[in-house]
Amino acid sequence: MKIIPISLPTPFYIGPVNVYLIAEDPITLIDTGPKTKEARDALHEGLRKAGFRVADVRRIVLTHAHEDHCGLARSVRDEAKNAEVLVHNWETGHRIGRLEYEEHRALLVRAGVPPPEIETMRKMYEGVRQYADSFAADEYGELRDEEELEFETGTLRIVHTPGHTPGSCSFVREADRTIIAGDCVLKRITPNPVLSPDPIDPPKRFASLAEYLVSLARLRTFAPTLVHGGHGAPVNDFEELFNRYIRAIQERQKTVIGLLPKTGASAWEIALQMFPQADDVHRFLSVSEAVAHLDLAHSEGKIELELSDGREVYRAS
Ligand SMILES: [Zn+2]
Ligand SMILES: [Zn+2]
Repeated sequence: MKIIPISLPTPFYIGPVNVYLIAEDPITLIDTGPKTKEARDALHEGLRKAGFRVADVRRIVLTHAHEDHCGLARSVRDEAKNAEVLVHNWETGHRIGRLEYEEHRALLVRAGVPPPEIETMRKMYEGVRQYADSFAADEYGELRDEEELEFETGTLRIVHTPGHTPGSCSFVREADRTIIAGDCVLKRITPNPVLSPDPIDPPKRFASLAEYLVSLARLRTFAPTLVHGGHGAPVNDFEELFNRYIRAIQERQKTVIGLLPKTGASAWEIALQMFPQADDVHRFLSVSEAVAHLDLAHSEGKIELELSDGREVYRAS
């Protein structure tokens, strides 16, 4: 079973995205790239070099529903005459091409983000959503943890690896312990645990960083020899990356706890201190990062959390 990476340009800060062609029946594309002409052309060219056309694709599997990964799914599906589309059903906060905005807004209010900043984030999101087509709930099938995607000469095991988003999935070829991990594993940077509603209980916040740590540990049990991420070069030494991630997370937790004043602070206030330079685009990601670390520290009993005037205030314990 041949896994062929294809790099596609994106209009986002993160740079090019990797999608993966499984060049065996049923011809499968893992992620599709954003909905731009440049990505579409690069996808056509990448498939052509591998000896295929978009029309040959029978199955589209999404690691998660961020625009840089899922944007072209509908267009590829249509061009490939109704290829099957599969995504994990926890990807509810980011239904393909349609963020559940009101749920997100409520989370931002609780995190202490001021209304004008929330409005800026909404406008930014409106700008980003043009890079993905929407799907109705009945237009895609479900990726289920531990099930297998079958191919002519082998299988990929579906491993649900929540964290970056609630429905993020990885795909493991056990024969040689190769993993396609989407944004769960990135060589250069620690993936952002994006602020998301809990898929089971949307008014609540998803415990993204705690879940992410479990996902990393789970991938580690496969003793991967090669991990293909959603951006950048593949990872040959997962163990080194795992240890680096854990250290980075522990260090950031210390920083976050150190920033908490005695009088308490909201996640927004901590985000401003952690990333004073963050511009519009990165403000949302800095709040995500602050909330994730504060939540993890709270769940570990290291800090206190109370609700005051509809916003959450964290305090050193
Ligand atoms: Zn992502
Ligand atoms: Zn990505």
